[in-house]
Amino acid sequence: MKEVSSRRLDSWKEIADYLDRDIRTVIRWEKTKELPVHRVPGGQRQSVFAYTAEIDGWLHGRALDSQEEVAVPENGSRIGTSGSNGKSLQIAPATASADSRHLPEAAGAAAEIPQEAIPALPALRPAAKAPWVTAAIIAVLAALVAGAGWWLAHRPGAPVRVSLAGKRLIAWDNQNQAAWQYEFPQPVELRRVPGSDSVLFADLSGDGSREILVLLDLILENATPTHPLPLEPGKFPQSALYCFSENGRLLWKYQPDLKLSFAGHSFEGPWHTTDMILTPAGRGRAVWMSFGHHTWWPNYVVRLDALRGSTLALVNSGAVLTLGYLKNTTGGYVLAAGMNNGYNSAMLAVLGENAAPAASPQEPNTPYLYDGTHDPPYRYFLLPRSELFQLGGNSFHLATSLVIEPDRFQVHTFEGRDPNGNGRYLEGFYEFTKDFDLVSASLGDAYWELHRQMEKQGKIHHAAAQCPDRLMAKRVLELLPDFGWVTPKPPAERAAN
Ligand SMILES: [Zn+2]
Repeated sequence: MKEVSSRRLDSWKEIADYLDRDIRTVIRWEKTKELPVHRVPGGQRQSVFAYTAEIDGWLHGRALDSQEEVAVPENGSRIGTSGSNGKSLQIAPATASADSRHLPEAAGAAAEIPQEAIPALPALRPAAKAPWVTAAIIAVLAALVAGAGWWLAHRPGAPVRVSLAGKRLIAWDNQNQAAWQYEFPQPVELRRVPGSDSVLFADLSGDGSREILVLLDLILENATPTHPLPLEPGKFPQSALYCFSENGRLLWKYQPDLKLSFAGHSFEGPWHTTDMILTPAGRGRAVWMSFGHHTWWPNYVVRLDALRGSTLALVNSGAVLTLGYLKNTTGGYVLAAGMNNGYNSAMLAVLGENAAPAASPQEPNTPYLYDGTHDPPYRYFLLPRSELFQLGGNSFHLATSLVIEPDRFQVHTFEGRDPNGNGRYLEGFYEFTKDFDLVSASLGDAYWELHRQMEKQGKIHHAAAQCPDRLMAKRVLELLPDFGWVTPKPPAERAAN
C-alpha cells in the first residue's frame, strides 16, 4: 500500500480543481457541508488553503454517509479503500449511446476491456427428457449462475485513477483492480501542467457518466522541428489529449496541429499544452486548452466540446501560461493570461465562451502580426513592466497566474527574481471585478523590501513612498474594440463621471 501523502491547495481554484467542481460549489460546500478549508490569518485578502488529506477524509466521510455523487480526483484511490465493498459508490458503466457524440478526431481503437456481457444462459425447454438429464441441466445452470454471480461480485468497478506504464494506460477501480487497459501506438508521458492535473474525471457529455481525460506528451523519435531556430532539436513535446469512457473505450483524441502564419512566416507543431481547464457546457463540460510553441511566442487556445468538436478561440503572439473561467451577468468567459511579445508586456485576454476566434492585437510591421483575419478578443489588457523588472534586466514580462474568487479575480505578474528569497519571484497583483473593471494594481511586500535596499545602495534615487510604481494602475492599457488603447478607469472614477 502506498502512503497517501497530503499536499496543500492554495486557492479556491486549486481546491475546486482537486474536487473537480466549480469554485462556487466548493465555496458552498465549505458553508453547508463542512468542507475543511483554512484561512490565512490576517491575510490582506481572503486567502484560503486546504490539505488534500483532510479533503480526502471529508470525501470519505461523505461517501460513507450519503449516496451523493462524490468527485474522485486524479489519484482518488482513497475512496472506498478502507475495506468497505464500495458498492454504493460505484457509478454505472457508460452506455453505448455515450459514444455517439465523437469529436471529428475520434478514433475507434478498441481497448482491452473485460467483457461486460454476462455469460448467456441456455434457453429452457419443456422437460420431456429423463429426470437425470433435467438434473444435469439444473446442475449446469446452477454452475453458470454461480459463475455469473462470482463474476458480478468480482468484476472491476468504475475506475477512480489511471496509471501509465510505458505505452500502457491502466485504469484502476477503488479496490485497486485493473478495470481496463489501453496501449498507445507510441511512447508517451503524462503532461504535467502547473496547477492542473494530467488526468481529469468529468462528465463532458452531460449524460451522467464520467469521461476520463488523459493529457499526454507523445515522445516523437527523431522529431525535427521546422523552425530555423530550434532550441533543442528532437526534444519538443507534442501534446495530445485522449478522452476515454469509463469502461475504457477511446471516445476521441485531440492533437494540436494548427499551422499559424505571422508576418509571412509559418509556424507549425509540435505544440505543447501550457494549461487545460474544464468549463460548464450545457449539462456537461467543455475543455479549454492553451498550446505553446518551441520558439516560445506563438500560442493558441482551443475549446473542445463533445458536440461541436474543436474550435479555435485565440491566437496570441506570446505565451499563454494560464487559463481561468468566470461567469458574470452577461455570460461565461475564459481568461487567458501570459505575455504579448510585440508589446513585451504581461497580458490578459478575455474570451467570450461562444465567441468567434480572436487574435491578439499587434502593431503593424512587426514579426508578431497574425496573418489571419481574426478580430481582437472581447477584452485585452496589457499590464505594465515595473521599475524593478526593468532594473533587473529581465526579458519576459509575464502574467503567471489567475486567482478567481466569487466576485473578483486577480492576475499575478512576474516582476523579476527576488535576490533575498530562495527562488522566489517579485510579484505584481492586478485585481478586477467580474465585469472586467480594474480595481487595483499593486506590488508585493518583497518588491518594496528590495526597493528600499536598492535605495540604500544608491541604485534607486527616490523613496518607495514616491515610487511611480505606486500608480501602476494608471499604466494598464485596455483595448477597446473600434477605438484603440485606453487606460481603464477604476470603477470609483467611472461612477463619478
Ligand atoms: Zn521606485
